[in-house]
Amino acid sequence: MIIVLKPECTNDQLEQFIERLTSHYDLQVNTWVGTQRTVLGLIGDTSSVDMDYIAAQDLVESVKRVQEPYKKANRKFHPDNTVITLPGGQKIGDGSLTLMAGPCSVEGEEQICGIAERVKTAGAKFLRGGAFKPRTSPYSFQGMKAEGLALLSEAKKKTGLPIVTEIMRVSHLELFEDVDIIQVGARNMQNFELLKELGKIKKPILLKRGLSSTIEELLMSAEYIMAGGNEQVILCERGIRTFEPYTRNTLDISAVPVLKKLSHLPVVVDPSHAGGIAWLVEPLAMAAVAAGADGLIIEVHNDPPHALSDGAQSLTPDQFDRISSRLFEVGKVFGKTR
Ligand code: PEP
Ligand code: MN
Repeated sequence: MIIVLKPECTNDQLEQFIERLTSHYDLQVNTWVGTQRTVLGLIGDTSSVDMDYIAAQDLVESVKRVQEPYKKANRKFHPDNTVITLPGGQKIGDGSLTLMAGPCSVEGEEQICGIAERVKTAGAKFLRGGAFKPRTSPYSFQGMKAEGLALLSEAKKKTGLPIVTEIMRVSHLELFEDVDIIQVGARNMQNFELLKELGKIKKPILLKRGLSSTIEELLMSAEYIMAGGNEQVILCERGIRTFEPYTRNTLDISAVPVLKKLSHLPVVVDPSHAGGIAWLVEPLAMAAVAAGADGLIIEVHNDPPHALSDGAQSLTPDQFDRISSRLFEVGKVFGKTR
């Protein structure tokens, strides 16, 4: 349920009103204060709330029930875009085009540090690389694990780029102290126990859409994290399963404007896993920028033919360099800063 208050409502009135609501009903009240108005979002079982009584209060402008099952992730509860600010000052969702780039897997010190330098020069604001890899086959390379995380930290120290990497189980959380944004991969989008634990921490979470998940399911997974108190969630469209075998997945470009409409959370697109082919990364990334994405995750490898995972979709640093400047140009056309 959403209650919009009249602009003249004072702080005291607001506090008393919230106090009355929470003492009468077993509800949580989410307060959003805008420049023009204040919106209260009631979270919990609102079936017993008397809408006519609420609407009759002096300070209330309007009341309506919210049909969607996601509340904290819902734009109706938080009309402004959420901007995520990292301790180093980097922002996501502030109107800039954020590039996150790096190899699918961290493979060694020279590899990760070399790629980090190159993507930084090309304009990437984050280094992304996998240390724990969720592979379809148990016989495929599973990642360098803790050693991979240490190498990411080293690349961060050398370049100043904050790091983004995937977590696969709750018990690994203590290893992620130096990680700036924790990624939840497509396969774990509905690992609710993991999501609940990530709801208790203070770091931004990059939540990838499941292979066969609906937009609403993605938002409900974001809700799991937010319900625990961590409201710094970045949504990621990375392609979904369809009947089309030519591409690895089908990039659901419509998910970008739909997510932006339904939610206030930043939306990034991963054209690398969506297309699965290096030459498709540029056109898909362009489409994502035009559709309103706040950022892109792009896989870059120093030697794609010999990459230990996802070589076919990886760009070389030179290719990334050329593409990123074109992406910033396109971004400018659509009002995005660098
Ligand atoms: C990845 O980001 O490297 C990855 C495994 O992606 P996804 O979870 O989208 O398949
Ligand atoms: Mn990959």
